Amino acid sequence: MTVLDPRKAPKFSKHAHAHDSHADAYHSDDDHEVDAHHHHHHGPAHEGKVTTKVKVLTLIAVVLPPVALAIAIYYSWGGYFSWTDMAMLVVGYFMTSMGITIGYHRLYTHKSFEASAPVAWVSAVCGSMAVQGPLLWWVTTHRRHHQYSDHELDPHSPHAGRQPGVLGWIRSFGHAHIGWLFSDNDIASSVAKYAPDVAADKRAQLISKLFPLWVLLGFAVPALIGGLVSQSWMGAFLGFLWGGVVRMFLVHHATWSVNSVCHIWGSQTYRSGDHSRNNPVMGILAMGEGWHNNHHAFPASARHGLRWYQFDLSWITIRTLGAVGLVTRIRLPGAERMKAKQISAA
Ligand SMILES: [Zn+2]
Ligand SMILES: [Zn+2]
Repeated sequence: MTVLDPRKAPKFSKHAHAHDSHADAYHSDDDHEVDAHHHHHHGPAHEGKVTTKVKVLTLIAVVLPPVALAIAIYYSWGGYFSWTDMAMLVVGYFMTSMGITIGYHRLYTHKSFEASAPVAWVSAVCGSMAVQGPLLWWVTTHRRHHQYSDHELDPHSPHAGRQPGVLGWIRSFGHAHIGWLFSDNDIASSVAKYAPDVAADKRAQLISKLFPLWVLLGFAVPALIGGLVSQSWMGAFLGFLWGGVVRMFLVHHATWSVNSVCHIWGSQTYRSGDHSRNNPVMGILAMGEGWHNNHHAFPASARHGLRWYQFDLSWITIRTLGAVGLVTRIRLPGAERMKAKQISAA
């Protein structure tokens, strides 16, 4: 196990694996700072289309959940409140949002630690249940975000291309939060460009391909539990609503707020070449990912809340998994690099 204390360790783990160097080209480490000016030389962006089917499904996944929440609350007032549903909502929230942060994001996108097979599977399957797209697509989009953060080719910047005035601001926020999901991207060529390492990973491939199954399970399991506990169809329906749809709704907006809110509101501690911010509220709600300026400054770090008071539940979980040997080679930024990038005294 190589848990490095940022205070003691001078650098990232020196035992970088073969695929690390490969991936580093995309998710820059300390050594590869995201260069805001680099990308203009990349040639024309591939213009592809998101299929109508995907757009319709996305629309349903965005519009239906708040309706479901209203229905669920309506039934609660009508006496259909159940602690089982609340427990499924909370447990489901933690499981799927940390599937995104630990699995999709810190493991597969940034390779910030090495996972044993159970962790690699469980984290990515839980992440898939958050209904934010198949693993491969997510990794591709997110690496592109880091490469072009807050510039023209960033898939979800609240700043790039912003029109003046309040309306322009609202539009840009809407784009960064949700609207970007409906914009066209050449997905196939982007995978080849941004995530060849993950595309070549058999496990990631399989998990990506089975995405619809994981999504289905994410709704079916709480419905089944709700039905069995209450011995009723109504219980199954409410389990589906609270543990499935409402849970998905809350995790969606927590993740999307990292894209929108955490590039607008909060403090900047480190030079990151973009508008990323450390936002304490999102730090808590998004399982540590609200320390987003830290993350853009040190993308490969398994720890986003770099100070003791920056609560980062995903990091606590990764560290715990490391302590029992389920993850290894955990990467953290060295003290002198942190100091070199620091903007203000903390
Ligand atoms: Zn960002
Ligand atoms: Zn990232």
